[in-house]
Amino acid sequence: MHLMKTICASAFLILTTAAHGQQAADLIVSAAQVVTMDAERRVIDNGAVAIGGGRILAVGPRAEIDKAYKAKQRIDQPQAMLTPGLVNTHTHAAMSLLRGLADDVPLQQWLEKFIFPAEAKNVTPEFVRWGTRLAVMEMMLSGTTTYTDMYYFEDDVAAVTKEAGMRAVLGQTIIGFPAPDYKTPQEALAATEKFIGKWKGDALITPAVAPHAAYTNDEATLKAASAMADRHGVPLLIHVSETQVENTTSLQKHGASPTYYLSRIGAIAKRSVFAHGVWMGVRDRQTARQHGIGLAHCPSSNLKLGSGIPPIGEFLRFGIPVGLGPDGPAGSNNDFNMFEEMDLASKIAKGTTNNPMALPAATVFEMATIMGARVLGMEEQIGSLEPGKRADLITISLAEPHAFPRHDPYSMLVYTLKSSDVRDVVIEGKVTVRDRKPLTLKPAEIFAKAAELRAKVEASLKEGKP
Ligand SMILES: [Zn+2]
Repeated sequence: MHLMKTICASAFLILTTAAHGQQAADLIVSAAQVVTMDAERRVIDNGAVAIGGGRILAVGPRAEIDKAYKAKQRIDQPQAMLTPGLVNTHTHAAMSLLRGLADDVPLQQWLEKFIFPAEAKNVTPEFVRWGTRLAVMEMMLSGTTTYTDMYYFEDDVAAVTKEAGMRAVLGQTIIGFPAPDYKTPQEALAATEKFIGKWKGDALITPAVAPHAAYTNDEATLKAASAMADRHGVPLLIHVSETQVENTTSLQKHGASPTYYLSRIGAIAKRSVFAHGVWMGVRDRQTARQHGIGLAHCPSSNLKLGSGIPPIGEFLRFGIPVGLGPDGPAGSNNDFNMFEEMDLASKIAKGTTNNPMALPAATVFEMATIMGARVLGMEEQIGSLEPGKRADLITISLAEPHAFPRHDPYSMLVYTLKSSDVRDVVIEGKVTVRDRKPLTLKPAEIFAKAAELRAKVEASLKEGKP
């Protein structure tokens, strides 16, 4: 009898819910057009996304979503596009505080005269925290919802990133000379293991191992770093074949290209992300494909430092996933603008192959979203708008003169729309930017600190000079 009552009561409850026809959602975001990047690459006019518990509940025409869900909060942007948040696969966030310190100088001079001394004298946990806050604010406002970092004091980077509600893959740097945080690679390796233990399983932060490059680490360190990444199932982030000099030196020293050398010594982890790959040849691409690596392509950086231009079409033909990265803002680039990286990636591919069909807009937008997620081994969680995935999305204003008239959405996203058109940002179901206003960071305080730390950097570079 009692059981019967319970069954009847639950049936009644289901009926009432069905009568209202609505399920609860935390947030509904609607827009003029939703670009899903799902397997069918659906583009939905007058579409919406329902979000609950940090995940996407449903994606579809606005009328259907509104009928099926009742949300506590809504963002309606009838003059905007709604897309997955952009995925940055390679950067050095806290270098934002060294922005514009030295431009238009050769790479070696830039490193030895400016960046290394400035880092040695200034990079502290405090510097990294403020630099990361500044970077995260800029990244969010330009539509990035996941970024990939390689820097020092990565535990502080993680704390600040989580506080701001941003998603990131954070690699603690391991390098063969005394760094601002750890004096030896052994110390850095031990700290990395701790860092992974602390952050693994976090909803927003994915810890990673980041040996700087093959030429800045010895064989034992590279092998230990790779083994650690595999032991914990986390990504390995490393710079590979960025410049021609790096390749020539590797050939002289190891009789092999950086990729082949790393493969030979067993230092390519299962989830490896190679940054740059400008000078990787056919055999390197074969090796890379066998290891299942992902490539982080950094067009601005490769152009600005005169490193060369990687044949991205060839990587894609080999089945190697390619993502985009703005690299560091201290000289390799001067900002974290993924819209600029998309535009450049497409145009330099066309310009260097004399082929206007190279890297079409739809492919480039994939690189900035779902393929970028694949590079990081996170394609099940982010990179597209699909039920069950983590709710990372952005709205981009179409109420701009450059947004009329419209034909192809990918052409708009890659060639026309600007980072400054980004209106709202949602990460893990939380609104972090609303109508271009950061909600989780304090701009005035960050700008004041950036100015204060700039003065410190400037003074430190004058020390000891006549
Ligand atoms: Zn880099």
